[in-house]
Formats: sequence, structure tokens, C-alpha cells
Amino acid sequence: MKLVGRSRDSSHSNINKLPYIEGSIFKYSRREDVSALMKRETEILHTSDYIKWAFTPLTEIKGIGKVILDKLSKNRIEVIYDVLNVIPTKYDFYLHLTPIEQLDEGTHAVRGKVLVRENRRIYFFLKIDDGTGFLSCKWFNITPFLRKILYSIKVGDEAVVSGKVSHFGIFWEMHHPLIAKEFKKRIDITYPVIGGLESRRISKAIRDAFSEAPPFFDYLPYFIIRKRKFPFLSEMLRNIHLPKTPPEIGSYKKRLRYEELFLLNLAYQRMKQENKEKKAITININDKVLQILESKLPFKLTHAQQRSLKEIISDLKKDYPMMRLLQGDVGSGKTAVVAIAAVCAAKKGYQVSFMVPTEVLAAQHYEKLLPFFSSCNVNCEILVGSTPKRKREEISSLLSQGKINILIGTHTLFQEGISFKNMALTIIDEQHKFGVEQRNRLMKKGIAPHTLILSATPIPRTLCLAVYGDMDISIIDELPPGRKSVKSYMLTKKRRKEAYGFVLEEVKKGRQAYVVYPLISESENVPNVDAAEEMYKKLKETYFENIRLGLLHGDMNSDEKMKVSGLFRKGKIDVLISTTVIEVGVDVENATTIIVENAEKFGLAQLHQLRGRVRRSKHQSYSYFIPGDNASLLARRRISYLCSIDDGFKLAEIDFHLRGAGDILGVRQHGILNLVHTDLIRDSIILKQAKKDVEIMTKYNYPISEELMYILKKKWEKSLCYLSIG
Ligand code: ADP
Ligand code: MG
Repeated sequence: MKLVGRSRDSSHSNINKLPYIEGSIFKYSRREDVSALMKRETEILHTSDYIKWAFTPLTEIKGIGKVILDKLSKNRIEVIYDVLNVIPTKYDFYLHLTPIEQLDEGTHAVRGKVLVRENRRIYFFLKIDDGTGFLSCKWFNITPFLRKILYSIKVGDEAVVSGKVSHFGIFWEMHHPLIAKEFKKRIDITYPVIGGLESRRISKAIRDAFSEAPPFFDYLPYFIIRKRKFPFLSEMLRNIHLPKTPPEIGSYKKRLRYEELFLLNLAYQRMKQENKEKKAITININDKVLQILESKLPFKLTHAQQRSLKEIISDLKKDYPMMRLLQGDVGSGKTAVVAIAAVCAAKKGYQVSFMVPTEVLAAQHYEKLLPFFSSCNVNCEILVGSTPKRKREEISSLLSQGKINILIGTHTLFQEGISFKNMALTIIDEQHKFGVEQRNRLMKKGIAPHTLILSATPIPRTLCLAVYGDMDISIIDELPPGRKSVKSYMLTKKRRKEAYGFVLEEVKKGRQAYVVYPLISESENVPNVDAAEEMYKKLKETYFENIRLGLLHGDMNSDEKMKVSGLFRKGKIDVLISTTVIEVGVDVENATTIIVENAEKFGLAQLHQLRGRVRRSKHQSYSYFIPGDNASLLARRRISYLCSIDDGFKLAEIDFHLRGAGDILGVRQHGILNLVHTDLIRDSIILKQAKKDVEIMTKYNYPISEELMYILKKKWEKSLCYLSIG
């Protein structure tokens, strides 16, 4: 079959014969044209030589042995394709000789007569005269090889030197130029050092690879190349690695960044597609039932809660699984929304699992939701790690008979021996505490349950598109009425007594408080950072000797943890000394003050979460952030933002700009951190373009070539581990 319609390389003739109209596919007036065009593209797809070549292991290239390969593969460079995507940091062109009088700061080649030749104490010196001026050359480190060359040069000889020229006093100077008898055109390409492998070696590997390169097949859809005005693949790669003139690296980088984000979006689109092909139980709930359920809550849902609930309910009606993220700031009332969704499923006779990250949180949800569930005649149980064996067996048996409607618990929910009869909905609270793998294991328990993930970490929009691209998103951007904002202050360590004093006053009024430390116990490795255990003892003997003090941290066994958090909830502890175990979801309305010590040790989003612990109070609440004396200026700045801004989404945006994606809660384990060319802060526009283009492809059913599929897999299969593209 003839190769028409393929987005072949520009140096490969038939580009001009392509049946495309200039511009994007939008410009087609008639739909048929587009589909005919696409059909033609599909017909001629077959695995090209290009892909075979691009995915050749580097070992097949001469000169690359196991040692080098090991170094490279640690940096995820294993095949030719990977190495082609390494962009040089610098090009030096020596395409002609420059007369000395025309030199400027930069790289040049100069030919002239040697006027002076001296082996000075710290360097070897040559002075060259080309009739238009003088040039000094100095070599500080002389290898035996270089010595041989330099020593063979005599005063009066002609020599060609090339390298970087700089101005010293009234003379031009070159340090360590390359020296030869004759001028030859040369281009020096500097690659970044990868895994200890020098630029020279990478350069050689690429040259060797190119010497066997077949015609290039551009895997990026043609309409995108045209629409986005990208260079063609072969033009790009050749100009990057084998340039004849200074390459336009800027436009190549743009394409590489786009490619990366395009592939990410395409991967998400495939995941969504796959999800749609799964069968899920349809749960039809009519508005009347919904109204009745809502009326059983002790409050009226906010508009944002209602909107999110509607979105969830309409997902449940579909015959493929819901994949929805429910995002809302701490205290925005996510629990009420999902509780209604859970009852809806239970009322239709299906089971619901509700997974939370800690036992404390499980107990709290159970306690708070039980009255609501009971009023709806729905059975609810709790299963956590510390549930006694007999109870666990009982639950397990009731569960498999379908006699428990809603099961709340920790990761215990997806352990061996726990089987649901007909789970149709799974709710995962505070998602960032769970790995993707755990989530998948739970989902495997049902056929393909509807999945609802709750996150209290507001995430900047760009990041949300990049991290949760496979999910639909509902946002609760409104707090329940009457919430006062938390008054927030930053104090130095010296002034922390003031905060303690304030807590005592609040306790006198019958309120409760938290004091949070970054460490459980003091450690030599982390000097100058206070720890919960030691401070508990200290405070018990000093400031807080006359009040009821509790200690809660992650190393306590779960019985103790449950006991302490239970006492605090019931108001039998006035001040809780704690670590970040309280960060997720602990909900005590009577707590009005939180003190966070060594606040610089926490990210902005996390501090905001901690502050959220006192935002659910009916009373005015307060937070004190106390940075350590060694805290950096940036850390203090972060805290001052926190003190003046109350909106979690705004704070997340600031945190993202200050610290980058990797420090946003929950993003650390995510595959997007494997992005090589992209910086999500800088490239947010490119991300949106890529997303849009993928949507167009989906809409028009644009064929995905084998090449593109191959690259897609290679790039994302591992890091988006739940991805099984194609
Ligand atoms: P989060 O979104 O952090 O999980 P919760 O669901 O725990 O927040 O809700 C925080 C508190 O607000 C709870 O005590 C809950 O009962 C209350 N609440 C939730 N929605 C409303 C509402 N619409 N009106 C009044 N109070 C509400
Ligand atoms: Mg919650």
C-alpha cells in the first residue's frame, strides 16, 4: 500500500502530497472529510522501522557496554528513544575562522602565527598574531597528550586555536582552546552529565545511533503538528543532535514538553475509556427519596454540597463505574454528602465500603454517622486492625451474607478473608494517605464498584488536571453557614508562653485545644525540634499542671489511641499533645485552639489541614504557628501567608508555586513526577492544550497509531501503575 496520509518526515518526500488541508481539522466544513481522512490514516498503519529502531536497547550500539547501560538505566535511559530525548545544554559552532580584530565574547576559531611560546610556572602560554591583532592562549592543566602537541609547536608556526574567548585587560584570551595545525569545521555539543556519564560518551552514542537510523515516522498526530506549529520529529531530532546551524532549541523544547503532557493526557483518556467498558451496577435514585434522606440530616446541605451530591447520584445511575474525586476544604462537609450516597446504595440492597486512613477516624465516622444510618434503617459496622478476632469473624460472616449494608474501616477492609456479598460503592476518605495499589485492591473486591474518593487537600487546578486526569471531579467550595475563620498568628519560640497562657484561658471557658509537634520523640538527627513525648512531660509539670492533658501519637498502640481520642472527644481531656495523627479528619467541635510547634517542618497544605481541626467550632477559634529558631526565611514567609489567607485552594496555589509539585500532599508518589521536560508551573498552558487536543481526538475517534501506542505504554505504563493501556 502506498504511504499517503502518514505524517512522514519532511525530508521524506511525500509530505507535500498529503491530502491534508492547511490548518487544523477544525477547518473542515464537512464531517465526512474528516472521517474519510482518518480512515485512510488507519488503513496504512503498521509498525514502522522507526519504532523498531527507536526502541532498540542501547546495548546494541557499538561502544555501550553493561557498565554504561547500568548508569543510564538508573536514569531511565534504556533505549535509543530515551537518549534522543536528552537535550544538549550547549552548542559551540566553529564553522569559520574569525579575524582577531572581530572577536567578541563567545566561541571562535582563530588562525595565526605563534609569536610567543612559553612554559610558565602555572600555565603554558602562546601568543598568536593573525595580522589583525593578538590573542593569548593559556593551558593550566596539561595532559601528556596535550603536552606532546604543545611541545611540537614552535615560534613562527601557523596554528589554529578554537574555544571560548574572553577579554582580559586589553587582550583577548582563550583558556584551554583546542589547538591544531589546520582548520576543520566543528560543532561541539555539550550534553548534561547523566548518571556520571560524560557528555562526550552520550554524544557518541547518539551519533552511532543516528548512523543506522531509518526514515522517521512522526507519532504525533498530524493535525496537532500543524495546529500547534511543531517541527517534525526528524527535523527536530536531527537539528538537536546533528545540527548544521545553531538549532532553534526553543521550539523543540516546546514540542517535547507538549509531547510529554499529550502522552499523559492520552494515557488518562485511555484509562477513562477502559473504565467505561467495565460493567457496574446501576443505582437509580429518584429525587423524592433523596429529599427524604436529606431531611434526616441535622442541617441543610449547602449549595456546593447539593451540587456535588447531584453529580454523584447521576454517576451512580450509569452502567459503568463512577470514578469521582470529591474535593473540599477541611470542614466543608464531605462526609454528609457521601453518607447520603452510601444510604442510597444501601437502600437499593447493595453494600458500601467506607475506607479511612486511621482507626481514630474510622471510630469517629462510625459514631457520628450511626444515628443517621439508623434513622434510615441501614446497617453499619466498623472493622479496624484492633477489632477482636471473634468480632471480625462475625462481621465477615454477616458481610458475606449481605446483612451489613455499610462497612467503615481502615485498610483491614481489603484484607484476605473479608468478602462482600454485593459491594457496589466504595468510598475512600482522605485519599492521599492511601497508595494507588491499595485502592485497586479494594476495587477488586466488588465487580467494578463505583468509586468515590474524598480529598481535603485542595489542589491547584493545573496539578489537578495532571494528577487526577483519569477522574471526574466535584468540588465543595463553600463552608457550612456560620463558620468563623480561624484567627491565626505566628509566634517566635521565645513567645510561646503567650500561646500556652491563651490556651489556659480558653480551657477555663470550657474549651479544648491541641498542641502539635513534628516528632514523636526527640532525636539527635533532628536537633532543635521539639517532640510530643518530651513536651508532654514538660508541659504536664509546668504550664499545664492543673489541667487534664492527653498524649496522642502514631507509635501508640491502637487501643491507647482510641482511648485517648475518645476521651478528648468526650471533653475529658482539655489539651491534647499530639503529632500529625490528628491531621486527618479528627473532629471535635469544642476544640478552639491549636498550637503547631516547629511549624516550618510542615508544608503549607498540611498546616492548613492542622488548622482545620479547630475550624469546625461554633466558637471563635485560634491557631498559633511557632517556627523553630532555625527556620528559613521561606518557611516563615509560608507561615505568614497561612496567617493571612483562609482559603485552602488559594493556599495550595501558593504552596505549589513556592515548593513545586512534589511537596503537595499526595502528589509525591504520583507518576507525574517522572515528567522529564515539563514543569507544571511553567507549562500549565501546554497542559491545557494537550488536554484539549486529546479531547478532540476522542471526539472524532482519531486513530492511535501503533507507534504512538508503543510510546504511550513505554512512558506511562510503569508510573501510572493501574494503567493497562491497549
Ligand atoms: P470534611 O469535609 O472535612 O470531611 P465534615 O464532613 O467532617 O467535613 O463536616 C464538618 C462538620 O460540619 C461536621 O461536624 C458536620 O456535621 C458539619 N456540617 C456538614 N455539612 C453541614 C451543613 N450543610 N450545615 C451545617 N453543618 C454541616
Ligand atoms: Mg472528613
